[in-house]
This record gives sequence, structure tokens and C-alpha cells, in this order.
Amino acid sequence: MTDADLREARERMVEGLVSGGRISDERVADALRAVPRHAFVPEGKRDAAYADRPLPIGDGQTISAPHMVAVMAELLDVDAGDRVLEIGTGCGYHAAVTAELGAEVYSIEFEPRLAREARERLDRLGYDVRVREGDGHEGWPEHAPYDAAYLTCAAGEFPEAVVEQVRPGGTLLAPLSDGVGQTLVEATPRADGSLDRESHGGVRFVEMRGG
Ligand code: SAH
Repeated sequence: MTDADLREARERMVEGLVSGGRISDERVADALRAVPRHAFVPEGKRDAAYADRPLPIGDGQTISAPHMVAVMAELLDVDAGDRVLEIGTGCGYHAAVTAELGAEVYSIEFEPRLAREARERLDRLGYDVRVREGDGHEGWPEHAPYDAAYLTCAAGEFPEAVVEQVRPGGTLLAPLSDGVGQTLVEATPRADGSLDRESHGGVRFVEMRGG
């Protein structure tokens, strides 16, 4: 595919998400229009980069489907200048979308190869995203408090350290598993440390490792 073909395929993908009701926030649509998803998938899969589905990126991991990234971006509702923590960098696509929304992004990836490749890729594409190899269960205390934090891997519960690193009134978003399935859960830490929760339906993500 030529650059023009890729651009056109990307535009069609975004139009599909808008007309299908997956995106209602124009800023999210613009962010998906701006990020070259084909640069985040393995060479051999570039022609499939603008289909709305997840793709393998090696080591049993996947790049999330565009509609999932869009839904999460809408729920996270970041404003320019917000400080956002991401757990599960993967190939870096979701982080790039969050950065396009104007956020200062800090992202942690468990798998060393993915962390290294994502950091190089995001640098090369000019995204101001800080990537660290590590276990997201610990969060990234040096840059806390965050306005928002999200997981792109499924956990049993929001990791305690991550909850503590989000400011009261901020947003937490994660696929939470109950052993049977996963639900996308949004939560807001209250001043007393408890969480105000809202569920947003069934989802399917890779399981969080470590802990
Ligand atoms: N954000 C990616 C999707 C990543 S898939 C995208 O843009 O498409 C989920 C990622 O979470 C995988 O790369 C996996 O290695 C990572 N992961 C799993 N457990 C983790 C942990 N404890 N800490 C940080 N990353 C973790």
C-alpha cells in the first residue's frame, strides 16, 4: 500500500467508527486520524492495520482494536496537559492516541522487548511518551499524582499503588476480570481513598502479568 492508500484506509476506519457510534467526541476522532496505526503493527500485517480488530504483535500480545482504544479514550476524557499513566504499552499505539489528545503520557510495559521497541517507535514518530520497563502493579510513583490512569491488560482489581497515584477526582479505567469474564470499569478515587465505580460492559484483553 502507498502512503496515500494508508491515509485513505485510516480515514475510512475513523468514519466507520464515527458512523457506527463508537466515537462521538471529535477530538478522539482526530487523534485516531493522526496516529499512523500501520507503523505500530509488524511489517507483514500493515495491509490489515486499518481493519477494526486486534492484531498480534509477538510474545502472545496484541495491539488493541481501534474501537477499543476509541471507547477508552472517550471514557478517560483527557484534557490537554493532563498527566496520564498507562499500564501495558504493548506496541505503543494507545499511548500515541492518548498523547495526540494532549496528555503527558507515562507508560509501563512488562515485556522488555516490547518496551524497548515501543520507546524507539514513539521517539521516531515524535511522540512525547515516557516508556519504562517494569511491573505496572507498582505504578510509576516518581511522576504522581496523575489525572488519569488506565490498564490495557486485565487485572482482578485496580492495583493499589496505581489507585494511590491518581489524584482524588481523577479517572481510573481498566478491564477487570472476575474469573468468568472481563468488564471495562471506570472508577474515581474519593478523598477518603474509596472508589466510585461504573461498569461499561464486557471486553477482552490479555491478562496482566507479574504482581
Ligand atoms: N496498549 C497496547 C495494547 C497492549 S496489550 C495497544 O496500544 O494496542 C497489553 C500489554 O500489557 C502487553 O504488552 C503486556 O505485555 C502488558 N502487560 C501485561 N502485564 C503487565 C504488567 N504487570 N505491567 C505492565 N505491562 C503489562
